[in-house]
Amino acid sequence: MRRFWLVLLAVFLVLACLTGCAPSKRVEILPGPSPTPGGLNIAQAQQALPSASPSQQPSAPAEASQEPQESEENAGRPTPPPPVTEDSKIVYLTFDDGPSKNTEALLEVLAEKQVPATFFILGTNADDHPERVEAIAAAGHLVANHTYSHQTDEIYQSADALLADIEKCAETIRSILGEEYPTDLFRFPYGSTNKACRDYRQAVREAGYRYFDWNALNGDAETGTYKRTPEELMERFKETVDDVDGRKNEVIVLMHDTGSKENTVKMLGDAIDYLKELGYEFRTLEYAQMKD
Ligand SMILES: [Zn+2]
Repeated sequence: MRRFWLVLLAVFLVLACLTGCAPSKRVEILPGPSPTPGGLNIAQAQQALPSASPSQQPSAPAEASQEPQESEENAGRPTPPPPVTEDSKIVYLTFDDGPSKNTEALLEVLAEKQVPATFFILGTNADDHPERVEAIAAAGHLVANHTYSHQTDEIYQSADALLADIEKCAETIRSILGEEYPTDLFRFPYGSTNKACRDYRQAVREAGYRYFDWNALNGDAETGTYKRTPEELMERFKETVDDVDGRKNEVIVLMHDTGSKENTVKMLGDAIDYLKELGYEFRTLEYAQMKD
């Protein structure tokens, strides 16, 4: 009788080990909650860089060292990069007003140069072309909020009108990229120091948004100029990068992603090479600190 119980115990132990120890059963270690169908969270999207292949499964990266570290509060998002110091040389490429028919070409240049960027999109354009928004996120870039309509004569009538338009854009981004996608990054149309909107900055902050202007540009939308050639855009770009006012350790470059800015596509590769030669590290604005 005792031998029967010993055999039973042995069988039980073997079964317990098979079901409890097999690596294939450890689904609980997979990161984060599943995104909304069709959605892509930041952690998954950034794994796509630098391969920049939207069709790739956002599965575990090849090397363990590349795997984003996560904590309870930071579920689904990669560890923030090291803090910016006085000695840092960080550049944030930003593209406003898209997506557009040029988005794909911009993404190709960014993929070729293997650098990330931030796209401040308009909700109207995103509604018209959600696949372009998906392509931006899938390639590891950050999709951020630049209002739904960009109709400044309406949205700058009051803080409430502005916030409603910002929230409409945020909802559009979430409907395309999933509820988990961060939508707290914002850029004021024409910048936060514009007198039409500067009184609303506090309301925007209190609503939980971080906003970012720029301290360099390629001049692809400066008023009073005819359409600049790629060479002229490059000249303007170098001029502003070399003469960044204030915090030179962080350069935010304003460019545009609209149908008429094909010359920005043409000069982008040279602009990135110039910044690399100067020793800049490229980041998205996701973890940047807002400055007043
Ligand atoms: Zn704009």
